[in-house]
Amino acid sequence: MNKLQTKIIRFMNGRYGKADDLNVTFVISSLVLILLANVLKTPVLSLLGFILLVLADYRMFSKNIVKRVNENRIFREKTVVLRRFFKARSMGFKDSSSRYYLCPSCHQICRVPKGKGKVDVRCPKCGTSFSRKS
Ligand SMILES: [Zn+2]
Repeated sequence: MNKLQTKIIRFMNGRYGKADDLNVTFVISSLVLILLANVLKTPVLSLLGFILLVLADYRMFSKNIVKRVNENRIFREKTVVLRRFFKARSMGFKDSSSRYYLCPSCHQICRVPKGKGKVDVRCPKCGTSFSRKS
């Protein structure tokens, strides 16, 4: 192991150092904002993107690991519906014979065969019934 690697490992020892969901969201959002700022010629968006990038770095190098884990947990709890929606959409793209819907009460992903018209879907997790076009 060379000297630089040793120094980096020593520096990161005891720090959060994770690219968790919140950090990935910060970095992707900042890149989108900076690109938009360049296209739309608005420096405010660029500043917002820069602030998000600094926040991601701050979280990455933070030594308060418990607080960072809790922030990420709260973020994941708040965005569970959105993440499941996009997961259902991607499952629908991969599987052309089925449609995927979210249960309106528990947000479980429910698979429905395609081409059956309007069907009543019963959630396998909570038992809630709802009708959707298949
Ligand atoms: Zn349900």
